[in-house]
Amino acid sequence: MMLKDSIKKTTQFLLDILFPINCLGCHKEGEWLCKKCIQSIPLYQKRICPWCEQKQPRLQLCQKCQTESGLDFLKVITNYQNPLFQEFLHDLKYNLAWQMIDDLNPLIKNFTHQNKGLTKFSQSVFVPIPLYQKRYRERGFNQSELIAKSLSQHMPRISVNPKILKRIKNTGSQMKLSRKERLVNMKDAFSCLDKISVINQKVILVDDVLTTGSTIKEAALTLRKAGCRSVGALVLAKEELIFKRKNVSLN
Ligand SMILES: [Zn+2]
Ligand SMILES: [Zn+2]
Repeated sequence: MMLKDSIKKTTQFLLDILFPINCLGCHKEGEWLCKKCIQSIPLYQKRICPWCEQKQPRLQLCQKCQTESGLDFLKVITNYQNPLFQEFLHDLKYNLAWQMIDDLNPLIKNFTHQNKGLTKFSQSVFVPIPLYQKRYRERGFNQSELIAKSLSQHMPRISVNPKILKRIKNTGSQMKLSRKERLVNMKDAFSCLDKISVINQKVILVDDVLTTGSTIKEAALTLRKAGCRSVGALVLAKEELIFKRKNVSLN
């Protein structure tokens, strides 16, 4: 095992020398996403309800979806349909390159500047959507936790607590499941580990990609049952359902 680890490390070291990091957008050396290319990934600004995608005067949950989702608010940073962003997030998650998160800094900074209202939630805590333990061990990190920590750097009054929620069910990949199947699959997937600290607390759930919302909905329900006063959510990217329904793939 030890030998295997050191072989792995040496291989990685050689790979780094032979294949230096290049920007996914323009192939410039040194970063996964250079300062210029990150600027080409815009903030999500559609005037819709991010849950049902109905037109709205502003980007915010409609009243019906507030009830439906169990969320007081839902913020979206960017659009998942951007091919460059999709490639970036895929590499971050599956090529185990957790350092890549730092290259998202300009985007997250931009988002926090435009959402100064969030600071009124200064009593809140960011709760990343947890991975199932086995998946966490394989990956070595939880991407949602990285996103939450990065957000907290720009909103220092909101701390991160990754120990409040635990994923107690291995829900597997939901990619091929319908909205209804996802809801059933997610049922009782989470447990609140720290009921004392969440009573009357304001929590902001953090996830990487929002698709049908079944994961966030179940997490919100778990936290409400545990006694949270307010549950909002913040997602790095929204996958638009219109693309999903038509089965359009951008890759
Ligand atoms: Zn670039
Ligand atoms: Zn809605």
